[in-house]
Amino acid sequence: MPALQLTAAESRLLELLRRQRALTASEAARLLALSVPTVTAQLRSLVNAGLVRADSYAESSGGRRPLRYTFQPRAALAVGVAVWPGTLQVLTCDLDLVTLHSCSFALPAPLSAQRLRRAVAHGVERELAWLAQSQSTAAADPIGVGVSLPGVVDTERGVLVVAPNLFMSDVSLSEFGLPLAALFENEANAAALGETYCRPRPRGESLAFVSVSHGVGVGIVFDGRLHHGASWRAGEFGHVAIPGGRRRCNCGRSGCWEQYASQTALLRRVRGRGAARMERFVQALNANSAAADNSLERYLDHFSLGLQNVVSCLDPDEIVIGGAVSAIGERLSEGLRLRLSVAPMVSPAPLIRLSRLGLQASALGAAALHLRRLFE
Ligand SMILES: [Zn+2]
Repeated sequence: MPALQLTAAESRLLELLRRQRALTASEAARLLALSVPTVTAQLRSLVNAGLVRADSYAESSGGRRPLRYTFQPRAALAVGVAVWPGTLQVLTCDLDLVTLHSCSFALPAPLSAQRLRRAVAHGVERELAWLAQSQSTAAADPIGVGVSLPGVVDTERGVLVVAPNLFMSDVSLSEFGLPLAALFENEANAAALGETYCRPRPRGESLAFVSVSHGVGVGIVFDGRLHHGASWRAGEFGHVAIPGGRRRCNCGRSGCWEQYASQTALLRRVRGRGAARMERFVQALNANSAAADNSLERYLDHFSLGLQNVVSCLDPDEIVIGGAVSAIGERLSEGLRLRLSVAPMVSPAPLIRLSRLGLQASALGAAALHLRRLFE
């Protein structure tokens, strides 16, 4: 397919079409306050790039019926990778962040930087092999791979600075040797990016994405942009102590929020391995198990303490909860909302809801690192 090099004006038009799904040239011209010939020329470029289709006719009040231009989400694909302690999640998604295919792999233990690089490269190659064989999705080649990592990622120098739950630091990201153009990001930041990609916020609004899986991280978006901080550490609330916290953390401190609010903390008393433990816990909740209920209430008490720190520091318009614990569903967001609504200094609580991207938020957000470039 043609190279997806768009001008700023074409990107703006494509973003409008992504939201509106289909428009005539005159409708687009009116919404962008441009002339119809200018927009028609831009639409022609988008049609040539395969991003937009002009195949049906819109309603007309008489005379020649105008062309209707429809957004084509399958015109560009990207591969997203999420690295978790013990597991690698790999997927391919389209311009709507709809997943076409996903798979996961166990990471070798003990993990080293070299083993991690090899595993990520292997996962991406397997995904590309699936894409090459797939008949149903043979629309486009992926434009790149985004990799989310559970730690502090310096995207400018290309270094995984520290990842306490992978027991790694100072890993060069340029040596991953991936078969596609690669971009890297912290997992909570990637998830926050995916969330805002799907639902852009009005100017001036802020969002905190609380990603809860093996650890806890917060992705911060102000005014549509990720806030990384001066040393890429912004949002490491998982390693801020909560009142009364004593448990030792992999980061070297004690009492860190993630020791009480991570999936690992929630499932401490649930037997089994991997994703099956979370499933078993949710089943017990649905079956009104008193023990599961009690575990969840205590978990929410601790979760709420750290969330109060997030609200006090950031005071965001919206808090989105994502990651493995979102499998609990509305009871999670509702329980947190209730607790924050009676907590001193943070009431009235900001809007709290679950991520629409579910368990794939970080991998989809990593893929969005590439896809969003078409709209900026
Ligand atoms: Zn810690």
